[in-house]
Amino acid sequence: MAQHSRRTFLKGGAAVAALSLTGARIAGAHAMLDPGDVASAPLSQFGYGDVALMDGPMRQQFDANHALFLALNEDMLLKPFRQRAGQPAPGDDMGGWYDNSDEFDPHGSFHGFIPGHSFGQYLSGLARAYAVTGSRPTQDKVQRLVRALAPTIATRFYDGYHLPAYTYDKTSCGLIDAHQFAADEKALSVLNAATDAVLPHLPAKALARAEQYAIPQKDEAYCWDETYTLPENLFLAYRRGAGSRYRDLAIRFIEDDLYFGPLAEGENVLPGEHAYSHVNAFSSAMQAYLVLGNEKHLHAAKNGFEFLRATQSFATGGWGPDEQFRKPGSGEIGESLKNSHAHFETPCGAYGHFKIARYLLRATRDSRYGDSMERVLYNTILGAKPLKEDGTSFYYSDYNNSFARKGYYKDKWPCCSGTFPQLTADYGISCYFHNNESIFVNLYTPSRVTWSHADARVTLTQHTNYPNELSSQIEISSDKPARFVLHVRIPAWAGPKTSVAVNGKRIASALIPGTFAALDGTWKDGDRIELEFEAGTTLEAVDPQHPSIVAVVNGPLALFAVGEIPKDIQRRALERVDRISNRSDTWQAKTEAGVLTLKPFASIQDEIYRLYQQVES
Ligand SMILES: [Zn+2]
Repeated sequence: MAQHSRRTFLKGGAAVAALSLTGARIAGAHAMLDPGDVASAPLSQFGYGDVALMDGPMRQQFDANHALFLALNEDMLLKPFRQRAGQPAPGDDMGGWYDNSDEFDPHGSFHGFIPGHSFGQYLSGLARAYAVTGSRPTQDKVQRLVRALAPTIATRFYDGYHLPAYTYDKTSCGLIDAHQFAADEKALSVLNAATDAVLPHLPAKALARAEQYAIPQKDEAYCWDETYTLPENLFLAYRRGAGSRYRDLAIRFIEDDLYFGPLAEGENVLPGEHAYSHVNAFSSAMQAYLVLGNEKHLHAAKNGFEFLRATQSFATGGWGPDEQFRKPGSGEIGESLKNSHAHFETPCGAYGHFKIARYLLRATRDSRYGDSMERVLYNTILGAKPLKEDGTSFYYSDYNNSFARKGYYKDKWPCCSGTFPQLTADYGISCYFHNNESIFVNLYTPSRVTWSHADARVTLTQHTNYPNELSSQIEISSDKPARFVLHVRIPAWAGPKTSVAVNGKRIASALIPGTFAALDGTWKDGDRIELEFEAGTTLEAVDPQHPSIVAVVNGPLALFAVGEIPKDIQRRALERVDRISNRSDTWQAKTEAGVLTLKPFASIQDEIYRLYQQVES
């Protein structure tokens, strides 16, 4: 039985298990990475077009979001910008957070909360979707939207605007993605205008919420801006050729004083902070590290992520009940099962989680960031309800012990409608990473990646039904033999029967769970790698203060109780949970008071479910 490791996984650093293949050359020194090498050379991401998702839940979610945003009415998208510029603004209102409306009240209606806030995210999602698919209508739409946005840009847009940094951050992301991924030649000049427009409305430095509350404001919503998330996209703008002022601006908004500085020193300053935006800010620390090279920012992101995982997370990988981090030792995470239905801001949280886990995996080559990604993937976002054409959005995952069920958010076009298409466009680039001598297989999902290695053109194709079946078949096709190291993620939960075989021959060396296994060899067309993972069942307490309130976790899957729940549940019964048949998504635990039925999140529809069970201690 695999024991889920609670030890800090950051200490694992660059641990790589190098395995030699029979008949292949023995792994040379280049397969073992020394830490200095790791710090200076993060793994690379593939281009969006290099990875193709094949049919499966990830592809379906990407396709659905791509189609929905491609069909969105452009006058409606532009309406708040045109209205605020005093220009003719045809078309209907989008509704919800997106409109200009006097109805907004921080303690009441959220209609008109942040007009136009998510325009840039829809633009970014479309630009990335174009890069994934090569869809010309998608590229055309990106370029039309950039051209239509340009004449609306003015500093008056932000007059009386609650969250200028928030919306500028999203708008700038859309523009740099239009430039980078949809070959939009105008996007960077539009970005310059958008930057000029927002600057008079930004503070001198990044402000924590507490600092914003200390400034007298007309209403409370003015205290909710997220200046501390700005550096990531500002550094990206600089790196993509927008000019050195973006680097200077990025530096200005790095929140070293109250956030990254203490985090880098190992101080857990998460409690009390707004959850998603402070995870999103970790990506700003990583861009600061990548551009400026100060290890402090890498430490801040690593420590922050570790505090997130170890002190704030549910068994699903989700975090932040009521969008707030809690004090370790307070028992508040456990209490939230009674007093909240808003346990994880799912599309935004998963987007931020994937983004920082990618940065950290690339910088450290620690496979456990990949483990963390798959937890969030299978137990949260892949079970989200689809976005509707009118902006009705899935927002919170609900882990309440009474009457938890999937539902939609009260307001149309919230934040989660913006991050969802960005996240699903990023699915492909989250599956594989590479450098000059290696490829890393991070997520097991039906997909194909193609790259050039030396003078060979190599394609790696995965066939899998993971996580329903915990195995994957990888095929290599190559126009000539190629020597490279193929790293495959061995999850920390993997048991001793986990195996890797190359061309039908099982690798003899021991696999180390929680590392990438490195297969070094000369690969040729038709080579096959077969992976089989053994998963055990563990019970994870919601927090240390509630040791008898546990979730059942098998491999990457958290299991949710559905239907009749027996009155008394024994720990032993949950530990022996089993599928009702080989490939079924339905599990059963036989308690003394009757059978408990469980399902993964993605298999649940509209029925009531329960993630955490009270067990007899
Ligand atoms: Zn959200």
